[in-house]
Amino acid sequence: MATGRVDLDGNPIKPVTICMIGAGGFIGSHLCEKLLEVTPHKVLAVDVYNDKIKHLLEPSSLWGDRIQFHRLNIKNDSRLEGLIRMADLVSILAFLALISAFLFDFGGDLCSITTVNLAAICTPADYNTRPLDTIYSNFIDALPVVKYCSENGKRLIHFSTCEVYGKTIGYFLPKDSPLRQDPDYYLLKEDASPCIFGPIEKQRWSYACAKQLIERLIYAEGAENGLEFTIVRPFNWIGPRMDFIPGIDGPSEGVPRVLACFSNNLLRREPLKLVDGGEAQRTFVYIKDAIEAVLLMIENPARANGHIFNVGNPSNEVTVRQLAEMMTQVYTKVSGEPPVDTPTIDISSQEFYGEGYDDSDKRIPDMTIINRQLGWNPKTSLWDLLESTLTYQHRTYAEAVKKATSKPVAS
Ligand code: UDP
Repeated sequence: MATGRVDLDGNPIKPVTICMIGAGGFIGSHLCEKLLEVTPHKVLAVDVYNDKIKHLLEPSSLWGDRIQFHRLNIKNDSRLEGLIRMADLVSILAFLALISAFLFDFGGDLCSITTVNLAAICTPADYNTRPLDTIYSNFIDALPVVKYCSENGKRLIHFSTCEVYGKTIGYFLPKDSPLRQDPDYYLLKEDASPCIFGPIEKQRWSYACAKQLIERLIYAEGAENGLEFTIVRPFNWIGPRMDFIPGIDGPSEGVPRVLACFSNNLLRREPLKLVDGGEAQRTFVYIKDAIEAVLLMIENPARANGHIFNVGNPSNEVTVRQLAEMMTQVYTKVSGEPPVDTPTIDISSQEFYGEGYDDSDKRIPDMTIINRQLGWNPKTSLWDLLESTLTYQHRTYAEAVKKATSKPVAS
């Protein structure tokens, strides 16, 4: 167990118990790992799946006594609602097997970190094709957790998304306008930028809208009822264990986010598909850098409470086309396989995502607030983070993809 940890103001850090809803996903798995490796904190890991944290849960694991997994779907588990309702009336230790009981159990020490049901939909391919599930899982299902934290004086760290910014102001200027180069027209600031979404028929924005409303609700709970909260806006966090490879550890017709889509194409030696020419711009941050920021938030509540934080890497900006080119180069290096003759092909968003897709044009996070409050800065360049991530993808999936593609097709 780590000892002697101090916060940013030099005060000793008291061990806390963290109820992490959605602990079995990409972000949750890295956060669990970090908490167990470098802190003395305990984790109550709540999720419907645990494949990505299995290595932490094994009896032989070094940390078995500081992490407990609770298989619970906050969406449709009647135990949750019942317990939340009963909670004000029921004594703390009455329901040990259930999430609310645990939340109570750890009383004042509890720091409730919620990724709010990471089984919640968070891949763009679903926003326009499953808008109802998107809105329900990202807004409605999160409501009881927020209410519960507010009513019971639990600190809440809520994972939102940079998608709440929508499009930049610059997007609406003429293509040749010099103002497009002015950061005032594209830099995304937590306390100043507007949230600009497309029309309702562009159902892509159902996710951003649900996430914005839950942010507003949390903020209002803070203002009116004193909820201690921190909101995190991830800007394209990427790294090992992100999403799935279609047909290997996810549905073959599934469409994950761009890192996994391009990894899948590279593994299968197919051209990478550039949606609408691959002109959209993104900044990518390495998951391990981003997790450092979250750890600072956990351990510095006085500096993090009441704030919304962009967490991204403004130096790692590329167009999707440039990302495809760089991933192709990196994959050639880590796999030892030469690139295919046609490394990329263009595809329309209509064909790739279907009706109702729309896109964020550019996403550069302003870092002023996170720098001032937590002194955090990302460290890893895009090339380096792609190298370690694609090394992982190749090691984890290359054999399985080879087997899957060499199977005879049934006639
Ligand atoms: N994209 C692409 N090809 C793919 C997958 C995604 O060109 O195979 C594009 C997508 O249209 C978007 C960008 O890559 O412009 C990032 O998409 P992602 O799904 O990672 O999520 P987003 O950043 O839009 O939330």
